[in-house]
Amino acid sequence: MAEISNNNSEEPRKGLNFVEQIVADDLAAGKNGGRLNTRFPPEPNGYLHIGHAKAICMDFGVAEKFGGTCNLRFDDTNPTKEDVEYVESIKEDIHWLGFDWGNREYYASDYFPKLFDLAIRLIKEGKAYVDDQSSEEIAAQKGTPTSPGTNSPYRDRSVEENLDLFLRMNAGEFEEGSRVLRAKIDMASSNMHFRDPIMYRIIKTPHHRTGTTWKVYPMYDFAHGQSDYFEGVTHSICTLEFVPHRPLYDYFIDELADESYRPRQIEFNRLNLTYTVMSKRKLLQLVKEGLVAGWDDPRMPTICGLRRRGYTPESIKSFIDAIGYTKYEALNDISLLEHSIREDLNKRANRVSAVIDPVKVVITNYPEGQTEMLTIENNPEDPEAGSHEMPFSRELYIERADFMENPPKKFFRLAPDREVRLKAGYIIKCTGFDKDAEGNITEIRCEYDPESKSGMPGSMRKVKGTLHWVSAAHCKDAEVRLYDRLFSCENPAEEKDRDFRELLNPDSLKVVSNVKIEPYLAETAHVGDHYQFQRIGYFTVDPDTNAADGKIVFNRTISLKDSWAKEQSKNS
Ligand code: ATP
Ligand code: MG
Repeated sequence: MAEISNNNSEEPRKGLNFVEQIVADDLAAGKNGGRLNTRFPPEPNGYLHIGHAKAICMDFGVAEKFGGTCNLRFDDTNPTKEDVEYVESIKEDIHWLGFDWGNREYYASDYFPKLFDLAIRLIKEGKAYVDDQSSEEIAAQKGTPTSPGTNSPYRDRSVEENLDLFLRMNAGEFEEGSRVLRAKIDMASSNMHFRDPIMYRIIKTPHHRTGTTWKVYPMYDFAHGQSDYFEGVTHSICTLEFVPHRPLYDYFIDELADESYRPRQIEFNRLNLTYTVMSKRKLLQLVKEGLVAGWDDPRMPTICGLRRRGYTPESIKSFIDAIGYTKYEALNDISLLEHSIREDLNKRANRVSAVIDPVKVVITNYPEGQTEMLTIENNPEDPEAGSHEMPFSRELYIERADFMENPPKKFFRLAPDREVRLKAGYIIKCTGFDKDAEGNITEIRCEYDPESKSGMPGSMRKVKGTLHWVSAAHCKDAEVRLYDRLFSCENPAEEKDRDFRELLNPDSLKVVSNVKIEPYLAETAHVGDHYQFQRIGYFTVDPDTNAADGKIVFNRTISLKDSWAKEQSKNS
């Protein structure tokens, strides 16, 4: 019987993704002297987003796993779009995710002299030429994947003329767009990237690190592989759109490398998320046009936005683990990310009471002026978390939605003549209520059952509903920002007929300013802390809390309802 054979020499090892397997094989084969060096190469032209986090977890993660190192390299080859603000934010975000590059902080701009020398050498060897055509003319000559391109009329310039023009390009003698340096490879190549790719273009905007030293700047394809080589990078891990660039990566590496060492490009699938956009260009547009409050707006898929929203590094990493690394593009469900943060916060967030839409309750049989302290467990999921005290008194606030004048049968909250338990407290029964001229409930009257105190003997009596509440005399005011998904359609980038900005979710932010919070929360909350508001969701303390009026501002990280977990249990 014929056996189906695996043409890989070894079985895939358990627990390793395909990139890690390649790395393990290269190390086992003693390539590059057994060295492992990866790099994360952001262009400092925007803030990092969760897609970058996937690349960071791979680049730094694989180095950590196999005892190698990972460089941070800023791919700063286009001064028109780049800025030090972005450099600083990128470093902060990588550290926050829990990774460190030690002293290996590099810049592609550090290699401009070496890259320039290589370009000069290629010109001298007849492998590069200056083209005087416009970018439109060059594009028109590219051909198509099935038909060859056309040679530029400048392709056969003499070496002397090419050298002279290239040096003058860099001296600033020519206008932007008037000339480029191209590699002389093959205008009929089946790989479009080989059809005399552009190596250098003229840019006169000063560079954030090199100032006005250079007037020509290398293109990605002429900078990236060589930068890897100059740094000693062994595994250059990137996303799938670079697969067709790989032969060109290798072509330029061939100009530099010998048998002892050469970097290798490996590609994995991008992270794409539903209900958001991941393109830095679009994210920049949202910021510039004021459609969000900034790069760190809690609705943004940026790392700083997620942090401000209340996401933890652990939740982001566990999401990235769950989606994994493959060779196929996919769209990842945002509800899986939301599931990850719920799981994480469920373990770490203290439970507290906050009433978002308050209505007053008066316990008519409770003595005026009396206060008693009730004990609340901080986190039933964490025995170490302890407990805190919460004052109970005659006047309370509960959620408006927890009372109905004419409730349906299945309404297990408060209604005339019905009973509910107050969380960690007593059972109360509604005895009356007042309404204003518009029919809004203004006050609910109840009587409490003194025998029903939670945790006391005699409290065994069961009622169906339990409500959260705060004591009116003791609570503090807070502001709550209820965030929802940024877009109202699943894949805004796919909607070809409509501008992505028209697809923004109009209800992605609701600000509630009259929220009542229990004293413990007001006393303990620090910017960045996580809490579970009982029955409502997970919230974090926003940096705006430190602004003038002293009110604590909470961002809703995520509501309690988990659509992902529900789907999974339905499917299993
Ligand atoms: P652009 O090049 O259009 O400005 P970019 O998103 O590719 O945008 P870079 O700063 O070049 O931004 O990205 C740095 C690294 O992060 C690259 O190696 C890139 O492959 C990786 N990366 C970017 N977006 C994603 C994503 N959505 N999923 C996984 N990795 C990504
Ligand atoms: Mg890029």
